[in-house]
Amino acid sequence: MKSPISQLAEAVQESPTLALNEKAALLKERGEAVIHLGTGEPKSKTPIDAIIAAAGKLTSAEVKYTPVDGIPSLKKAIVRYTEENYDKRVGVENVMVSAGAKAALYSLLVSILDPQDEVVILAPYWVSYPEMVRLCYAKPVIVTPEDGRFEPSLKEIKEVVGSATKAIIVNSPNNPSGVVYSAELIKGLVEFCEKNNIYLIMDDIYHKLMFDGLKPVSCFKYAKNFSDSSRLVVINGVSKLYAMTGFRIGWAVANKKLIQVMTNVQAQTTSCPSSLLQAAAVGALNGIQSYVDSLTATLQNNRDVMIRELEAINGVKVIKPQGTFYCLPDFRAYSKDSVALSKKLLERAMVVTVPGKEFGMEGHLRLSYCGSMKDTIEGAARIRWALDPHSTKEIYIGDRKCVRDWK
Ligand code: PMP
Repeated sequence: MKSPISQLAEAVQESPTLALNEKAALLKERGEAVIHLGTGEPKSKTPIDAIIAAAGKLTSAEVKYTPVDGIPSLKKAIVRYTEENYDKRVGVENVMVSAGAKAALYSLLVSILDPQDEVVILAPYWVSYPEMVRLCYAKPVIVTPEDGRFEPSLKEIKEVVGSATKAIIVNSPNNPSGVVYSAELIKGLVEFCEKNNIYLIMDDIYHKLMFDGLKPVSCFKYAKNFSDSSRLVVINGVSKLYAMTGFRIGWAVANKKLIQVMTNVQAQTTSCPSSLLQAAAVGALNGIQSYVDSLTATLQNNRDVMIRELEAINGVKVIKPQGTFYCLPDFRAYSKDSVALSKKLLERAMVVTVPGKEFGMEGHLRLSYCGSMKDTIEGAARIRWALDPHSTKEIYIGDRKCVRDWK
């Protein structure tokens, strides 16, 4: 008998981060004082310009299909955004809007990958890259930096590139480490991929969420070619920058020919992104941009507090993030098994963390600092209590007294 589920779908892993969100919500519903340091979205409210634009669209009572690749006003806003933030003038024909950066990335991979093609992914990496590559019957090839930092060198990357390599995916600022790759690495990758006809996929979803006055590097600065033979693709969206995760609007910027193919793929799978939510994204992109500055300032403050608290835990090593709202401390002084450690921290301290194993960095935990300052401080304090044998014997978690009865 034929299996009811395809072998391909059977092999797809559950998204660990989305599963943790559900678990945290269930615990909260049960009345537990859970602190969620596993989230992937800033808690700020939606920008008012996005709300007004979406409300206007809704009250027009004209919410219909749109062009497959996005409404012209949003594509124009993305062209302007690209010019302002990347110093690169592209045309509307270089842009496709999708239901989130995730959907843009998936349409892209479907458009470029044949079975058995290889895609190089730099560890630590976002959990969805390897799974999406496998969904295209292609092979993820992981590069892990040897020196314990979170930025592989160009040499390490070149070593795994072979005749089957079709693409390299780069995510900087990086989820899960918060590390911003050096301009030197970006330059090296752009030049190397251009020379060897390999797609360079820049997942720039966090590209303006940077700290300490750092500015994002534009990959276009190093590209000689953005004609129809260009293999440079930028993925971005409104989810992180404007805290609009639930709006599900992202986009790809690529050569015109590739955008046409991706648009065909999108036409046959989702028709178009929601007309209402595209209107909201136009509002956000064309609205007051001080929203992004204040979000970044809040995140930088939270980062400083998180790092201070983590440094106070004996044996925990942490690389200070320069962007995003994540960090990836090394907990190997306490456990080499990040899944077991994360489970223990949830059971003993009611703190949600994401095991580093999911991101290709065993022995680490990903902690987010995009919640409230209070949660950041208390979450880190509870982790310290659960791990440090010199901690006080009892603490209150919510109104429940917890006793430290483990070694
Ligand atoms: N890329 C990375 C690195 C991400 O962290 C995320 C969201 N967690 C996405 C892409 C997807 O973003 P979107 O919400 O636009 O689909």
